[in-house]
Amino acid sequence: MSKKIYDTFIIGGGASGLCTAVRLKQIDCNISVAVAEQLQRVGKKLITTGNGRCNITNKDISISRFHSENPQFVQSVIEKYDNSHIESFFADLGIVITYDETGRAYPYSLQASSVVDALRLAADDKGVETLLETKVLSIEKKKGIYEISTSNGTFSAKTLVVAAGLYSGGIKLGSDGSIYKMMSSLGYKTVKTTPAIVQLRTIGDIAKSLKGIKVNATVALLIGGKTVRSDFGEVLFCDYGLSGPAVMQISREAERKAGAKTVTLDLMPEYSFSDIVELLKFRASVLKGRKLEDFLSGMLNKRVGQTVLKLIGKKLSDTVDSLNSSDLKKAASVIKGMSFETVGSRGFENSQVTAGGIDTNEFDSGNMMSKRDAGLFAVGEILDVDGDCGGFNLHWAWSSSLCAAEGIAEYLGLELC
Ligand SMILES: Cc1cc2nc3c(=O)[nH]c(=O)nc-3n(C[C@H](O)[C@H](O)[C@H](O)COP(=O)(O)OP(=O)(O)OC[C@H]3O[C@@H](n4cnc5c(N)ncnc54)[C@H](O)[C@@H]3O)c2cc1C
Repeated sequence: MSKKIYDTFIIGGGASGLCTAVRLKQIDCNISVAVAEQLQRVGKKLITTGNGRCNITNKDISISRFHSENPQFVQSVIEKYDNSHIESFFADLGIVITYDETGRAYPYSLQASSVVDALRLAADDKGVETLLETKVLSIEKKKGIYEISTSNGTFSAKTLVVAAGLYSGGIKLGSDGSIYKMMSSLGYKTVKTTPAIVQLRTIGDIAKSLKGIKVNATVALLIGGKTVRSDFGEVLFCDYGLSGPAVMQISREAERKAGAKTVTLDLMPEYSFSDIVELLKFRASVLKGRKLEDFLSGMLNKRVGQTVLKLIGKKLSDTVDSLNSSDLKKAASVIKGMSFETVGSRGFENSQVTAGGIDTNEFDSGNMMSKRDAGLFAVGEILDVDGDCGGFNLHWAWSSSLCAAEGIAEYLGLELC
């Protein structure tokens, strides 16, 4: 009996691999599709997304929220597949999408598991062959057919989809970079990989001493004294440094740009420096005689306020009467820019996405097909595309997969439906 040749073989049963498989089966229910997943189940990373709620896409799908050496490539894909396309793809799988006030989209169930189930069940219903605990080891093309060697035997296919992700989330989520290394050894150009959407390590004891406290602040990343990125939102002080959405948002540049880096927190962004000086003068006049340990409470988190005063060299056991106008100006400066020297991030394992990846110049943005290997497609995070925090990385996974599925259908001569 001759060996089965799949129409499409997909490496990776994550967000993009599952989406590609389901969309292919929607286009043509007779197409034979296999998904090889090295872990015991599919969608293991997807289930952890959005703190278990899955921030599935965003209302504001614009190029400014995505990063790549080749932005035109990304632009061309997201222009064709915006959030309304993602909504309608998931509506067909039974997922109702809701948007929060900032534009982030979630399944109405607020359960990432429901998104994994919707994809997994649709794949099963439509007859996608899911090969679990099947690690792809190498690929070879012989007479126009891909021979895929795995830990579970060898498979053949007319088209191949590389949907294996990169390093983020670590090995437990399947992010070992094995296929990225394989593609690089096959001669595919790559763009340097670094962790993004990740916590930052800082020097000194300030963050550690405030461990567990959350504040809302404008976070700025400064290199050589210049602000290279800033974001407003929640900041969490940790024993290793700084976390929280606003810090994660600026982490990409902290990891990728050279030079000594400082992160500053504007603890009262709605107030100017002089507003704060006036406010402190007023407080000093009405809170006379009070211990300094209580001077800033009611204005800042009490322990954060105490840290501000310690940073300007005051003793908390002294009274408010000890503050002179220079102290008030110094305190206002710290409130407008509490400063931390950063020394990298908490690494790929703790990051949500990998910046860099396979150079997109190797692919056609019209169908995600390789320019050097006809029939080979790549989707999702393995490519040099990453997005901001807010649903943009999953949006890239879905949109590149829909584009590839339609490209594969055309390549195989199927009718789009
Ligand atoms: C904790 C966390 C939270 C996140 N939250 C969000 C969020 O809310 N919104 C958002 O937009 N993005 C979020 N992301 C990012 C998002 O999850 C990824 O961008 C997205 O999952 C990438 O999809 P992918 O299919 O390309 O890769 P993955 O989801 O990583 O899937 C790749 C799959 O390929 C498999 N694989 C790898 N190598 C092989 C091999 N050799 N053989 C067989 N299988 C292989 C892996 O096991 C894995 O299952 C989050 C990420 C993390 C880590």
